[in-house]
Amino acid sequence: MAKERSPLQPIPQRPEAAQTLLALLHAQGEVARLSERDQLFSSLLDSVNAVLWAFDWETRQVLYVSPAYERIYGRSASLLMADFNQWRDAIHPDDLDHAERSLAQVLVKGTVEDREYRIINADGQVRWLSDKCYINQRRKGERVIIVGIAEDITDKKHLEGELKRLATTDVLTQSSNRRHFFECAHHAFDRARENGTPLSFLLLDIDDFKLINDSYGHPEGDQVLQRIADSGKTILRRGDLFGRIGGEEFAAVFPGCEAEVAEQIAERLQREIQRLSFSHGQERFGVTVSQGLTSLRNEDTSLDSLFARADAAMYEAKRMGKNQIVSG
Ligand code: GH3
Ligand code: MG
Ligand code: MG
Repeated sequence: MAKERSPLQPIPQRPEAAQTLLALLHAQGEVARLSERDQLFSSLLDSVNAVLWAFDWETRQVLYVSPAYERIYGRSASLLMADFNQWRDAIHPDDLDHAERSLAQVLVKGTVEDREYRIINADGQVRWLSDKCYINQRRKGERVIIVGIAEDITDKKHLEGELKRLATTDVLTQSSNRRHFFECAHHAFDRARENGTPLSFLLLDIDDFKLINDSYGHPEGDQVLQRIADSGKTILRRGDLFGRIGGEEFAAVFPGCEAEVAEQIAERLQREIQRLSFSHGQERFGVTVSQGLTSLRNEDTSLDSLFARADAAMYEAKRMGKNQIVSG
């Protein structure tokens, strides 16, 4: 019977074979642990809906790209690893310059996190990416490895666009709302002052609109507002600004436009609106507007003075019997 060893007795030296066996078992345990960790990493990388990548700056070689690359780009990861141009080819032509320049910026800054660009995936769909990149902490002589994480932010971008549209658009007429119109108008004014270029400003108010509402009802009045806004959008040129700035009041800015040309546009708009025809049951009715027009002068230091002149001109048109344009 084996005699129990006292805890004070020294542990006998293990024979060599036992040592090797223990080392082997230890190594196997280590291998199992590593492979477990490997599996954990690859399932993590597989489930993250963002592309993790590593890039050797000098050799221009993609060293690693995670599985999401194939899902988001719809392109083969092995082709990308073989040829970096695969990445460039996928980028929207309008964003290629920005994507490349912002990648190079990481060499100077160490981190570039505000990097967004569009790609065209294999199905021809445009997708927005937020592609943050970082540089490795390298010692002298070590190669430059850039690592990054590219996330598909297409849905977020669409939502942002929709929110922006809602914040800047008048719901009823789908033209710019007052706040957005004046924001753009102030920019146009500043540019005109800086460049010494002409600019004209127009106010338009529907004549006897209260009577239209009272006679035919509010929904009919709404239709009048929509059709007048449509006329504005039809007549105005590309680059002109147009918005609904009040209940039945609209405004326009014509950048780069001399007074005579602005007058011609206003007259065209006046005729277009006079031609509109509305029906209410058997009855048909039309609508007229009064317009006040003015152009940028040397002494104008802010848009407010143009607005005040156009407003005074518009009220003059009302006073003189409505359905006309007055320049002030
Ligand atoms: P004037 O020729 O002097 O401009 O007279 P007017 O009746 O057009 O002007 P007034 O300011 O007396 O009335 C404007 C009316 O516009 C009153 C208001 O109920 C109506 N209005 C404002 N916003 C809307 C809208 O969104 N829809 C409709 N249907 N009516 C509106
Ligand atoms: Mg009014
Ligand atoms: Mg009115």
